[in-house]
Amino acid sequence: MIREDTHLHSNFSDGKNSIEEMAQTAIKLGLKKITFTDHVWETSDWIDDYVEEIKEVRKKYPKIKIYSGIEAKVIDLSGNIDANKSFFNKVDYVLGAFHRIPTGKRTYLSSEEIIKNKKIALNFWYKAIINLLKNKNVDIIAHPTFILKRYKIKLPKWLKKEIAENARKTNKTFEINRKHKVPNKELIKILKEHNIKLIYGSDSHNIKELKMFN
Ligand SMILES: [Zn+2]
Ligand SMILES: [Zn+2]
Repeated sequence: MIREDTHLHSNFSDGKNSIEEMAQTAIKLGLKKITFTDHVWETSDWIDDYVEEIKEVRKKYPKIKIYSGIEAKVIDLSGNIDANKSFFNKVDYVLGAFHRIPTGKRTYLSSEEIIKNKKIALNFWYKAIINLLKNKNVDIIAHPTFILKRYKIKLPKWLKKEIAENARKTNKTFEINRKHKVPNKELIKILKEHNIKLIYGSDSHNIKELKMFN
């Protein structure tokens, strides 16, 4: 089995360690492939420096395969993500993720609203993820059901199947996120039955987490 971690953050966004420090630790852990996936916003202005830095570290440590990526949050029900379109060709992987549940263009449910009406929250989330799966710029769905888990919203089995069928059609990869422990066993099983490609990510924001989740 190739030991890989496809979800690492560095101090280019909210991580604590540099790209080089994270790479050095990954080598010590015996990982063979890592991908940096720092958080971006449409206005992020450091992408070129970030990609350049990854290139430098890649040259310095040929023992490990190092890829570049970005993690961008879903901003509307159409499955658009918070990234400038110029970013997409600059990195190897684009991760789409829910950090909130959108209701419209850059409008989101508050925590109170989600807790008050979980059914409505699930409906908004479901609509947005189906469209996220159709977003051609997105390669990987990061921590797929994290936001539902946080609010203890149950995803019915038939919706899991719908998601897997749609992911199959658009050839999306799903992340098994070690930090947030999502998706659950049932969804992983359904994704496997639909031949969805699964990858592992630690979502590490520092060296300590990188060690803890690998
Ligand atoms: Zn995330
Ligand atoms: Zn992340």
